[in-house]
Amino acid sequence: MGYYEIFLHPNSLYTTVFSLICLLIAGMFSLRQSEIKLPVIFLLSAFVFDFIAVWIEALAWQHQGDSVELWVLFEMIWFLLAMFCMSLAAAAFVSSTSSRDMNAYWPAWVLGGLGLISIILFTVIIPDGEIIGRLRTILPLASFAYLAVGLGSKLKANAKSGAAFAMVVSVMVVVEIILKLFSIYLPWWITSVFYILFALSFLLMQSDVLLTKLKKADLDIVKFNQKLEEIIKLSPFPIVISRLSDDKILLANDNAARTFGFDIDDIGYTLKDFFADSHNRQALFEELEEKHRVQEFEVLMKTPVNNIPFWLLASANIIDYNNDVAIYAAFQDITSRKARENILENQAIRDPLTSLFNRRYFETEVTKLISKAKKENAPYSVLMLDADLFKRVNDTYGHKIGDKILIELANKTEKALRDCDIVARYGGEEFLVFLPSINEEQACRVAERLRQSIATIVVLTENNQKVTITVSIGVSSSSISDNVETLIKTADVALYKAKQNGRNRVELFNKNDLRKLSNQTSHTTPETEQNIHPVFSSENTAEISLLDGADTQNLRE
Ligand code: GH3
Ligand code: MG
Ligand code: MG
Repeated sequence: MGYYEIFLHPNSLYTTVFSLICLLIAGMFSLRQSEIKLPVIFLLSAFVFDFIAVWIEALAWQHQGDSVELWVLFEMIWFLLAMFCMSLAAAAFVSSTSSRDMNAYWPAWVLGGLGLISIILFTVIIPDGEIIGRLRTILPLASFAYLAVGLGSKLKANAKSGAAFAMVVSVMVVVEIILKLFSIYLPWWITSVFYILFALSFLLMQSDVLLTKLKKADLDIVKFNQKLEEIIKLSPFPIVISRLSDDKILLANDNAARTFGFDIDDIGYTLKDFFADSHNRQALFEELEEKHRVQEFEVLMKTPVNNIPFWLLASANIIDYNNDVAIYAAFQDITSRKARENILENQAIRDPLTSLFNRRYFETEVTKLISKAKKENAPYSVLMLDADLFKRVNDTYGHKIGDKILIELANKTEKALRDCDIVARYGGEEFLVFLPSINEEQACRVAERLRQSIATIVVLTENNQKVTITVSIGVSSSSISDNVETLIKTADVALYKAKQNGRNRVELFNKNDLRKLSNQTSHTTPETEQNIHPVFSSENTAEISLLDGADTQNLRE
């Protein structure tokens, strides 16, 4: 391919070397694609060896007559190596398309073998300059023709346009060599043109391979998504995929549609539409952002159509879905588990008969509310209610009616008060009420209204007998103490006063009572207190121990 004339003038040499370097760089660049690596290595070697051979040919011309056979032998060995590599490249192109077919290499071996024999024969045994001259054209003709065939076989493979381009260039080289056979020599720069054209073909081959890989990757993504969709559709759990950027639902399965109550063919919702609690949703997203996956996160969801809330357990991942960053969320229905938890929670804080809060809950909750009220400098009051002569009700109508009255009494009390007030069953037929933001005078009015309201309760017996009930109420407030136990105890003292003053009435624990109580606690023993106080009757002592160990330090004086 090369012309020894390129070595006769520095400009032609520089131009050729420069174009050869371009070819090498383009070739090296293409080596990253394993599909064309081997043939490109052979081709690059072939071009370099050919260049060396031409260089030696040029040197041989300079050493005319001076052991020229040796120079020619030397030149022809490099030349043969170049042609052998060229045919190996052609074979590698063929074999890479027909599943590494080693048969493709036999023309290379034949060409190499015949070439070697001819060179040894005509340079060493019977030196013949004319035949050697012919070999300089016949060998490249054969190898470039084979290269064109090899590249032709690549046309159906993944380096289509690059192979086609290289094939055209190879054919051009073949034509150039045929012209040489007819003694038509093209100018020296044709070598540089071929180098550059081959370099371009390498780049084209590389871009072909990359494009094929990209197409395959796209296809793989589509296939992966199809598989994912199938798995999601068949999943026994509700699953939803939503786009991260705009929260839009991209995919949901039938189970999700059933759980969230929407039509599967009409998913115009965002994931946000399914969350009943925005704080809960934010907490889920924060964890997802931090860890990129969330396991068994309790979420309060809702049906987007009629906003019915329900609890689910969510596991979520950030995934790539159809070229979008998306959230994959799988859910598990935990409504029954949540219900059980609620029951257990209620059992711990509620009284089973009346469903009011129990004494323990009242004390812990009121302690919190008192410290809050103290910070805000707000008043508060405590009422203690006791059903009047309830023993008699039980004795006359039976325990069942007694229970019914207690339930009615609890309902009436809750209804008569505000949502922020806390009503609890203290024990037996006694109830406690905490009234935030209410001072003692207001509390007395509330208690009076409550007393009157309870007096309207009518419970019918099996014989349609009407049973009514009255309550006595003791009132204590923030002006007496900021300690929940003391407030209960002082309200109870006021309640005792109401009982003594004829029942069915309201009494306030006032400063006088405070003084009396202070004296009592310092002069009497708990046993005497138990004797004088009705709540220490044998039936109630377990639940109620009102003045037992009264802490007079908490009293305000
Ligand atoms: P007083 O007006 O002085 O409060 O009279 P009382 O009869 O209400 O007082 P006492 O403490 O002697 O009686 C309380 C009664 O309440 C005794 C008990 O049988 C009844 N009691 C307590 N808890 C329940 C309950 O859960 N159901 C029923 N039916 N009765 C209860
Ligand atoms: Mg009573
Ligand atoms: Mg009682």
